[in-house]
Amino acid sequence: NEPLEAVDPEIAEVLRNELGRQRGTLEMIASENFVPRAVLEAQGSVLTNKYAEGYPGRRYYGGCEFVDVAEDLARERAKALFGARYANVQPHSGASANAAVLSAIAEPGDTILGLELAHGGHLTHGMPLNFSGKLYRVASYGVDPETFLVDMDVVRQQALEHRPKVIIAGWSAYPRTLDFARFREIADEVGATLWVDMAHFAGLVAAGLHPNPVPHAHVVSSTVHKTIGGPRSGFILTNDAEISKRINSNVFPGQQGGPLMHVIAAKATAFKLAASEEFKDRQIRTLSGAKLLASSLTTEASRDAGVDVLTGGTDVHLVLADLRNSQLDGKQAEDALHAVGITVNRNSVPFDPRPPMITSGLRIGTPALATRGFGDAEFAEVAEIIALTLQQAADTEALRARVNALAEAFPLYPGLEEW
Ligand code: PLP
Repeated sequence: NEPLEAVDPEIAEVLRNELGRQRGTLEMIASENFVPRAVLEAQGSVLTNKYAEGYPGRRYYGGCEFVDVAEDLARERAKALFGARYANVQPHSGASANAAVLSAIAEPGDTILGLELAHGGHLTHGMPLNFSGKLYRVASYGVDPETFLVDMDVVRQQALEHRPKVIIAGWSAYPRTLDFARFREIADEVGATLWVDMAHFAGLVAAGLHPNPVPHAHVVSSTVHKTIGGPRSGFILTNDAEISKRINSNVFPGQQGGPLMHVIAAKATAFKLAASEEFKDRQIRTLSGAKLLASSLTTEASRDAGVDVLTGGTDVHLVLADLRNSQLDGKQAEDALHAVGITVNRNSVPFDPRPPMITSGLRIGTPALATRGFGDAEFAEVAEIIALTLQQAADTEALRARVNALAEAFPLYPGLEEW
């Protein structure tokens, strides 16, 4: 029972260094967040020791009386949060949730229709090297070359042409809301199943600040670790009893063995917190921060430097900076922000003239900083630092000092010396 520091000082050092990095920089990767201490505790718990194949009340192992309580709480809270009749909280990740969804609603060889990867779609929506691209016939819709918005008439045309078994609505990099009701109309017209992947915007939905896909979709999948800010994992919702049965058997035994009960307990805690007023306030600050950021990257000074924002703004927790006319490409811009202490990821823009490892865009998100406590004043300051960096209009050291001041003013995990 020696502590980690004594058993494995090399890994203890990794944990210390990573905590220092998270504390000392501004995290703006749109898919990341900081879990609360309560979630860290549930996840780093003795529940990791327990095998619990099956579902509450119907396990293949003895001794599940307590983990059953955790899974029931997670399911009930997920259902209440999103207004769904059925929930499966066992997927280890967003990708494994999506594998279970597809295997439940399509047969290998069937056609699936989703947003093109290069236009903001996800790997699991049909990328050739992913299981989804290998097992299914993939058709896609892209964004409009002028507006960069999903055009529902194009979605319908593609659906009529390809007659997909599954239509996928959802994204990893898109700054606007989707019209779920229209997606459902199109799915009904062509006899397809509508699957919404709300991995990115689920926290906004939980707070009532983004349209809820659950009433429209046949099935909805999500991660827990992005805007929700819970443990790294996935879950699946549906209102359809038949689909729910198929989802359950396609998660276990279809895709997975023993569920990660420590993570499921942490999901339950995250869902409990997501029903709070404090959580809603955090999502309001997340959205407001993203809008401030979009404004600072569409000023005259930004546009003069070739910096712009796709679709001209944002309705969600992220901004897609458009650097097609900038001297800095996506890679250089990512590095320049890293040098001032801001972490983002480069991202291809649709119809990107630069190669995927370089790109002409950045995806910049506000959820993690909102969790850290940032409000409009701090987001306005970050937005100015980012704009000045991308415009190459200020000294790196001076900008780094401004980042340090923000990081120090909003300590992460105060009082926590380990982990
Ligand atoms: N679906 C979408 C839309 C995503 O953006 C992501 C994560 O990037 C996933 C699924 C996959 O989640 P995970 O990384 O947990 O497998």
